[in-house]
Amino acid sequence: MRRESDRFSGYFNQAMETISSGEREDYQNHLLRTIIEYAHRHSPRAREIFRGAGIAPEDIRTIRDVEKLPITEKTSLITLQKKEPPFGGLLTTPHNRLRKIYLTPGPIFVPEAKQSRYWRWETAFYAAGFRKGDIVQVTLSYHLTPGGWMLEEPLHSLGCTVISAGVGNLDAQVKIMHELGVTGFVGMPSFLLSLGDHAEKLGLDLQEDLSLEVSFLTIELLTEAMREGIENRFGIVARQGYGTAEVGAIAYECMENRGMHIADDLILEIVDPETGKRLGPGETGEVVVTLFNKAYSLIRFGTGDLSYYDDSPCPCGRTSARLPRLVGRVDQATKLRGVFIHPSQTDQLMSRYPEIKKYQVVITRGEKSDEMTFQIELETEHIDEERLKANLQTSIRETLKLRGKVEFIPKGSILERAKTIEDRRDWC
Ligand SMILES: [Zn+2]
Repeated sequence: MRRESDRFSGYFNQAMETISSGEREDYQNHLLRTIIEYAHRHSPRAREIFRGAGIAPEDIRTIRDVEKLPITEKTSLITLQKKEPPFGGLLTTPHNRLRKIYLTPGPIFVPEAKQSRYWRWETAFYAAGFRKGDIVQVTLSYHLTPGGWMLEEPLHSLGCTVISAGVGNLDAQVKIMHELGVTGFVGMPSFLLSLGDHAEKLGLDLQEDLSLEVSFLTIELLTEAMREGIENRFGIVARQGYGTAEVGAIAYECMENRGMHIADDLILEIVDPETGKRLGPGETGEVVVTLFNKAYSLIRFGTGDLSYYDDSPCPCGRTSARLPRLVGRVDQATKLRGVFIHPSQTDQLMSRYPEIKKYQVVITRGEKSDEMTFQIELETEHIDEERLKANLQTSIRETLKLRGKVEFIPKGSILERAKTIEDRRDWC
């Protein structure tokens, strides 16, 4: 792997990224009070939220107090914008004073105010190894949605040269990457892999003929197998970032590969979507964000994504907690004995056992509490079932933090289009 000495060390903003937890809290409390006071004065929707919750801005003094406010789900932005066009009363400035306006699927209008570093991805790019002098190919859409521009703007701040390549057009993309000596790729992991396939088809050697050194991957989930494939084939470093069209940067990976550090300039809570209460480290819940953005009052914005956080120290020196991974979407998850389980978790768990051909998780009402049974079809009959059962039960308990039964069933019992998690509890 080609490594430049300073590419993989250092910080974009050392003072902020390595701040002590006490100082971080003081800083966030201060920003929170400023933002709440401002939103209450200038955003009609923020005033409505406070009225509805029966509290005044002065009641929100620290980051722990935000729990007093309701969550504004991403899906409710559609209704809010219809009720009070164009921005649902969340904008604190007339919309003809904005720099840009986007339209994302929903449909939801997304504002971009005239302020520097609006999307806040600089820290993430720096942590992924992007530096001044890089030639960067941005392969997200520039059409209506903020994706392409959102990631281009911070690259300018870092001093990179950007090619706004957009989506598709493999021939042109390979030509650009090869002939301009592109050193950084920004886009989806699957697209980078397609680009690699196409370049090879055109007779190029990915390591000898291309100059790529770093990549910043987003939108799609980056599995470890994908990361390894990309790093080995291209001889580069692959790091991912997580954000949304409304918020911009939320979390990003450092070189240690131990999850995504939560951005310093927002409050991130992991919340039980049913109760709105904040969860602790390791507990899976919805990612809820309060943005320190004066122009657009996103206070307790529910992203609809499920994750959990890890606040153990990271060897990179950054002190923010990390999201080890995104688990999936809230609306696809099932709750059992107070814990969320998502098909992506059970898929990952089962993929560790090559002897399993197919499986389905069935949730039923038990005598004392709800029960979870993994019904499993095996690849062959010559397997020590007792041993496999014991191993599986341990893995289930460790991964999902729940006890589950294991049942082996004949091949062909699980229907082709069966749900991964089938909830058979009677809710009446
Ligand atoms: Zn780190």
